[in-house]
Amino acid sequence: MKSAQIPSPNEPLTIIESENPKPQGNQVLLKVKSEGVCHSDLHLWEGGYDLGDGKFLKVTDRGVKYPITPGHEIVGTIEEIGDNVSNVSVGDDVLVFPWMGCGECPACKVGDENLCDTPKSMGLFQNGGYSDYTLIPDSKYLAKLDGVDPDAATSLACSGLTAYNSVKKANVNSPEFLVIIGAGGLGLMAIQIAKAITKAKIICVDNDDKKFDTAKKMGADYVINTNVTGSISSGIGSPTDKIISICNGKGADSVIDFVNAPQTVKVALGILRKRGNLILVGLFGGSLEISLVTIPLKSITIQGAYTGNFDDMVELLDLARKGVINPVISKRYSLDEVNTALEDLKARKIIGRAVINP
Ligand code: NAD
Ligand code: ZN
Repeated sequence: MKSAQIPSPNEPLTIIESENPKPQGNQVLLKVKSEGVCHSDLHLWEGGYDLGDGKFLKVTDRGVKYPITPGHEIVGTIEEIGDNVSNVSVGDDVLVFPWMGCGECPACKVGDENLCDTPKSMGLFQNGGYSDYTLIPDSKYLAKLDGVDPDAATSLACSGLTAYNSVKKANVNSPEFLVIIGAGGLGLMAIQIAKAITKAKIICVDNDDKKFDTAKKMGADYVINTNVTGSISSGIGSPTDKIISICNGKGADSVIDFVNAPQTVKVALGILRKRGNLILVGLFGGSLEISLVTIPLKSITIQGAYTGNFDDMVELLDLARKGVINPVISKRYSLDEVNTALEDLKARKIIGRAVINP
């Protein structure tokens, strides 16, 4: 098999060839049809996350070992199965749930393997789908596509799943106004999902005008560019001011921040109404000073969201099958073009999602 590997952080990916593994027990060998290119793959390529104040969280300190084959949005056809596998058959087209856990910790025991204390996620802690074949440790992590387009399905394992989980969290206070910051792979999915499962008016925020046509097509009721003055500011006529006035002068009930950098979280906190709900999802990172009294006085909730669980992914596949959500796939690359795919994402050339078709 041919796999693209990150040899070490910031090094170009190289293609390596190896023998196809033989699946044992519950294992499944998948012939990869389509693999989503996620911004998280860029963080893995760069070796970690920006913590702000010049600090950097290295993925190696979280247990990642290089060289690694990235890719956690994997769709494939089952090539071969281990002796114990009965829930799927050779020839099935499946989506992989990549957020695998230990199966033993409190999170895993309630089905939230995505929040495992010692995660084994594919494409991060074990080799992933930037490859023509990949070995799945257990067939329980596979969901049949049953008619969903393979390229579109890839994003349901990560961007779609994370967007779904975030929108569910944002919907607990039945928002009249929901602000979605960042109209990239995650944000565009969230707009569609929010349109389908909430009653909220959706305000989409980005600092790049090119994202807004698609955002509106996906269902955004309003779009706001936070970059009009070159920097985000408050005060009359500012983006913050505009958003608050759209929200009847009171502010947004819920905000999901798919960027989660100092500039965007400042906006989020500035537009959140009393009893508002802020969900931080993006991993752009940095750090921020916040005035503490406003949190109790406004009784706001700030929470994180990290991917979603297997059941969420199955629900999401069902929404896609019914045509309620249609992931935007705008570019396709071969396995040999992985470096270009990641460079294009970094240079913000991708609308929605790009996929690799090995
Ligand atoms: P993307 O690159 O496709 O989209 C990011 C969007 O944010 C773009 O539209 C960009 O124009 C916009 N943006 C960037 N900086 C901005 C700013 N300062 N103000 C306003 N808009 C800005 O990325 P993506 O694939 O949607 O992922 C978004 C983030 O979410 C990444 O950091 C990714 O690693 C992270 N992520 C988190 C989870 C999770 O479970 N928490 C899962 C997947 C991805
Ligand atoms: Zn991802």
